[in-house]
Amino acid sequence: MSYSIYMPVKCVWGNNCVADNSSLLSLGKNCLIVTGKNSARCSGALDDAISALEKENISCSIFDEIGENPLISSCHKAGAAAREADADFILGIGGGSVLDASKAIAIYASNSDLSPIDIYKRKYSNKALPVALIGTTAGTGSEVTAVAVLTNDKTGIKKSISGPDCYAAVSFCDPKYTCSMSYKTTVSTALDAFAHAVEGFFTQKCEGVLRLFAEKCIPELYSCLEILSKTDEIPCNIREKLYYTSIYAGLVINTCGTAFPHPLGYVLTENYGIPHGMACAAFFSPFIDRCAEYSNEKFGDFIRMTDEIGKVKAVIASLTDLNGAVISKEDAKKYALRWQSVIPRNFTASPGGLTQREAAEILAGVKF
Ligand code: NAP
Ligand code: ZN
Repeated sequence: MSYSIYMPVKCVWGNNCVADNSSLLSLGKNCLIVTGKNSARCSGALDDAISALEKENISCSIFDEIGENPLISSCHKAGAAAREADADFILGIGGGSVLDASKAIAIYASNSDLSPIDIYKRKYSNKALPVALIGTTAGTGSEVTAVAVLTNDKTGIKKSISGPDCYAAVSFCDPKYTCSMSYKTTVSTALDAFAHAVEGFFTQKCEGVLRLFAEKCIPELYSCLEILSKTDEIPCNIREKLYYTSIYAGLVINTCGTAFPHPLGYVLTENYGIPHGMACAAFFSPFIDRCAEYSNEKFGDFIRMTDEIGKVKAVIASLTDLNGAVISKEDAKKYALRWQSVIPRNFTASPGGLTQREAAEILAGVKF
């Protein structure tokens, strides 16, 4: 067993952490604030960020065109906007989509000759601009990961970039910004955090301190999910728990990676518009069955941390709204073609591994 951990993000947590730590935003003199359409404003995070920037005498302009599952073309456009505004750092405010986009924008901004698609080649001349992040969802853990999941406009396929240049310099995690999320987004993002914790836990790398992180967040997240399955009125202490545990889960996947529910989930998001967390949760049942078969000791621990497996599956299924879509066997085979030449690391990291044919079978068997 050998592994290394590298997580260089300065991460501040807690109520009013943006106002209380405004000096951490001094990454330059002029920033491009990156947001989606509404969440930065309706969560209150944008106003707090602007006040904090004013306090530090940092000027800013806003790019608010990042959508869900961010397109490389939007990130490329924002990179040009950053250069136009002479920004010397990027401040992303939003859910995982905006946080991931901000990491890509920082790369495009300092590399004017980089075409949208070439970001996947991971070769460019200039260092990315520094990035600060303020999260408004409780799920992806992008605040602490060296990953950005981007969508290729031409193929519609989601693909990650990762590496030290994808770490934020600083992340602010204030749970109050997550309070404006709808019940559905709260559930989907909570399911994503649970998927990260559970998939990460069952990888071979999840030992030592990483196992401690996973073992901290699995029972807490599960108890939150149980509550979400019974009520759509979400108390503040649950919002807080969801946010902090999503960060623990982010620390787990940052080293351990995720397992097969994630790439299979991308297929549901790309073709059926299912939000990321619910899309991954759709594969919880086949995943945990394989864990029971191939990773018996950890499976025992998982049950001790949660509940009897039938109950756990029922809670996850009750929260997973897949909109009535159906995948035919033919479509499943077609979707699985993307894994024909290269088997993703998420497959090999899953207990028992996963072949392309098995992936197609699981896709075709998913219950909507
Ligand atoms: P999201 O796509 O960022 O946001 C989903 C929706 O929720 C958007 O419409 C957003 O609105 C809205 N929203 C966000 N915060 C809100 C708030 N506080 N109040 C009201 N509405 C709010 O959702 P996400 O689940 O956080 O991110 C998903 C993305 O992250 C996917 O692309 C996924 O692949 C990626 N991901 C990345 C990592 C990583 O390590 N980097 C890990 C897992 C997943 P606006 O459009 O107005 O912002
Ligand atoms: Zn995820």
